[in-house]
Amino acid sequence: MNGQTPASNEGAPHDGVIDDIFGLFRDRGDSMYSGEPVSQTEHALQAAFLAEQERVGSALIVAALLHDIGHLLSKHPEDCAEAGIDDRHERLGAKWLSARFEPEVVEPIRLHVPAKRYLCAVNPDYLQDLSSASLTSLKLQGGPFTAEEVRAFDALPHAQQALRLRAWDDAAKVADLKVPVLLHFRPHLEKCLQS
Ligand code: FE
Repeated sequence: MNGQTPASNEGAPHDGVIDDIFGLFRDRGDSMYSGEPVSQTEHALQAAFLAEQERVGSALIVAALLHDIGHLLSKHPEDCAEAGIDDRHERLGAKWLSARFEPEVVEPIRLHVPAKRYLCAVNPDYLQDLSSASLTSLKLQGGPFTAEEVRAFDALPHAQQALRLRAWDDAAKVADLKVPVLLHFRPHLEKCLQS
């Protein structure tokens, strides 16, 4: 699949949304999460499982599950960062999701890359612990925030949720971890669809 939007959903954003999402994972989820020992689907399931274990609401669980859906929608290959390309997956994902899910799902996803840039600026240990793949993408994403950018991020309505999401994202890279299957998260997805 090389389009950016499943054609079956054109014009009817609320019909078949979950089927389209499951289709994206089925068709593209086996690709590896760039430079990490997990596939895109494993990464998404681990992030959602971590969120669920912290007993957050459905919106943040869904945000964790779908935070990298932009990679599945992108026309760029998974390893594009190594070729010096930022696929802007957080914006692509947020744009696609914004017609389908509530802002409590979409906004933390839109901010999960800025959250990394924020954490690199405010926490030297965080920067030091980034995987080499994450360091490569950080450079393409603009590097650590300036002090002014840190203040601006702090003022955003979904900043705290984005930072929580970022922590699950960073931890969801464990090879062969046992996690629930995609279907397990369907009730959370259904709860967060736009009415
Ligand atoms: Fe991720």
